[in-house]
Amino acid sequence: MVSSSPSRGNCGHGFVRHRICLACKKKPRSVEGRAFDYLFSGLHLSHEAISLTKHLTTLISIYRHKKLYLVLDLDHTLIHSVKVSNLSKAEKCLVKADESGSMNNLGRYKDRLVKLRPFVNEFLEEANKFFNMYVYTKGKYEYAQAIVRMIDPNKVYFGDRVISRQESPHWKTLDLVLADERGILIVDDRLDVWPDHKRNLLQITRYSFFKYDRGNKKAKSSLAEEKKDESIKRGALANLLKFLKEIHNGFFSCGVEEDLDSKDVRSLIKGHFIPKRC
Ligand SMILES: [Zn+2]
Repeated sequence: MVSSSPSRGNCGHGFVRHRICLACKKKPRSVEGRAFDYLFSGLHLSHEAISLTKHLTTLISIYRHKKLYLVLDLDHTLIHSVKVSNLSKAEKCLVKADESGSMNNLGRYKDRLVKLRPFVNEFLEEANKFFNMYVYTKGKYEYAQAIVRMIDPNKVYFGDRVISRQESPHWKTLDLVLADERGILIVDDRLDVWPDHKRNLLQITRYSFFKYDRGNKKAKSSLAEEKKDESIKRGALANLLKFLKEIHNGFFSCGVEEDLDSKDVRSLIKGHFIPKRC
């Protein structure tokens, strides 16, 4: 356990902010553990404090709010963005559509055009009733913040729970998510970025609206060029939402509090989930 009796001089310095221990007010010479700047600037938790916090937040979330945890990737999961200079000839008209506001779910971040995946607003509103949600992206900090503000302008769904390349420059890991792994579901279009948490992972069909995609120009026409899009009611996010509700239902279906202590979403997933493309 993390020491809560600094007066005895045995403080574990579990919770440190700007290098000052929040419990004993001393300045530890060295601190093990991880930084959690994405939640509070300068916050650093020891391994023990991380473990304790994950456990407590999960208990409160499960028992008090009946909510599990959902970690959502951004690019090609909730949105597709592309540099304006990489738009195809037929897609250039979308710049004007964005400026005039004549097209829904289209936005701009610096030199990029951003297309929200159909159903994303409805998905977030509904998923928020069943899950505490995080965004976890390999994108840069400023980019991640700007895109999240497009889909969650009032911080209703994600709060400050946005993890970007700044906190996580290499692989994606649930070590940075303050919840027990048994209560976390991940949704990502890529499996390879999650080396250690495949059992928590649901793979979603890659959303690719523009022709330019990960440095490649697809041979066939893009959704944008064909003036089409994924179906709202039968697209990947709508199917995903149904599946997430089933898992949530399975987790809480026992109704007996004692059983919730041993419930694990990983035993409910049973293999990768790939929603059908519309
Ligand atoms: Zn201390």
